[in-house]
Amino acid sequence: MNMRVMDAPAAPANVDPLNRLFDDLFRPMNTDGVYARTGAYESVVEALAALISSKREEGTEVFRFPPVMSRAHLERHGYLKSFPNLLGCVSCLEGSEAEIRASADKHARGGDWTEGLETADLVLTPAACYPVYPIAAARGPVPAGGYRFDVACDCFRREPSKNLDRLQSFRMREYVCIGTPEEVVAFRERWMPRATALADELGLPYTVETASDPFFGRVGQVMAIAQLEQALKFELLVPLRGKEAGTACMSFNYHREHFGTTWDLRHDDGEPAHTGCVAFGMDRLAVALFATHGARMADWPAGVRAALRV
Ligand code: AMP
Ligand code: ZN
Repeated sequence: MNMRVMDAPAAPANVDPLNRLFDDLFRPMNTDGVYARTGAYESVVEALAALISSKREEGTEVFRFPPVMSRAHLERHGYLKSFPNLLGCVSCLEGSEAEIRASADKHARGGDWTEGLETADLVLTPAACYPVYPIAAARGPVPAGGYRFDVACDCFRREPSKNLDRLQSFRMREYVCIGTPEEVVAFRERWMPRATALADELGLPYTVETASDPFFGRVGQVMAIAQLEQALKFELLVPLRGKEAGTACMSFNYHREHFGTTWDLRHDDGEPAHTGCVAFGMDRLAVALFATHGARMADWPAGVRAALRV
């Protein structure tokens, strides 16, 4: 069939359908993926946090971490091997008053004040569970029955994007298990149905699939394949853009003995502890709720509002 040029359908506009939610949820802060959050949005994040707390297992120890952590600790975690492209490192003006003043004054003269920056002993925390392993290791051998932790953190990953579900600064909540392989596997098996039940309460459509982390570079691809083959990571994906692949809003991770050997976190018999975590992407879950149920919370299904108490 011949179609006159003027009758040809216009190419689909390359606009993310989630963008319609931006004004209700966020205000720009001059950088992609770093946004001020509206009161309505934040009330949903707080309600989600309370709902997740209500599922906490008995005997779970709570920690809330600052948005920065020890650079030496993150280096020891092996983060530079796996995700060097995502890491943010703190740098500061150090030295005498005169040296700091000289660097800062460059800015007023149109120069580059950042030339004087020195790397600090801090990085921006990229995942909520990293700081907990050295804390547990400092206690000595892992007690019988292992540890359960409830941790949360403002996380940073250098992945600027215009998509509302891919932020540079976002909140992560995790339940972490440290113990024997059997304890960690059982922990993950308990949490997967619990987490899907939570998504059901929230009225979110989802699939659960094996997944891999975005390991850096060509060596990373090998690590990602091994992770998939061993089913070490599952994700709960929520479709936010119609038929397109869903967005990972939770992940279920089995690290095997990686953190146990890294931190000398061992059982009485000297065997390295195994670890695992279930991570809730608080901002992604909140965006998913608005994307699924609409921009106005008053219009959300009664069951969802009751679960969240909003
Ligand atoms: P991960 O450690 O990559 O499994 O991340 C845990 C959870 O954090 C993911 O399932 C997401 O829900 C959330 N998350 C990870 N990266 C981002 C991001 N760039 N923006 C918003 N949420 C994220
Ligand atoms: Zn974790």
